[in-house]
Amino acid sequence: MVEPLKIFIKMLYNSYSNKLNIMRQRYSHQRELIFKELKKANSHLTADEIYKIVKKKAPKISFGTVYRNLGVLEHFGKIKKVVISSEKAVYEAEERPHHHLICRKCGNIQNVFKPASFKCVSCLSWVKDFDIEDAYINAFGICGKCNNRK
Ligand SMILES: [Zn+2]
Ligand SMILES: [Zn+2]
Repeated sequence: MVEPLKIFIKMLYNSYSNKLNIMRQRYSHQRELIFKELKKANSHLTADEIYKIVKKKAPKISFGTVYRNLGVLEHFGKIKKVVISSEKAVYEAEERPHHHLICRKCGNIQNVFKPASFKCVSCLSWVKDFDIEDAYINAFGICGKCNNRK
């Protein structure tokens, strides 16, 4: 190959890889921001709620970017996704294992850190010949507030 052409191709490649690097950095910066804000919120939030919080810090961010990054964070086990119903899922950055008490009336989700008795799930293992190592419960019902008990 003639030298000028080689140089030209190298220049093209360099500017391309620079652009890629900048894009990668921006993406990881956005992901870090999403993670930090979710951790700070210390709550169970929908993708839309997280988007609204993150948008205050990064006004140019799109909902799609937030949603995609939530998927990546979940994939790498940095955050958890809790599916409430076919229309609703929430995310949280609480890494300690816990169960959920989900109110059907007000939608409030409470974390329960007390380890649930292993007995309540152990019966499942002999039903289907399966060794259970871990189990988390999403319990649905009505909270004390909605029941006017508090
Ligand atoms: Zn409630
Ligand atoms: Zn939780």
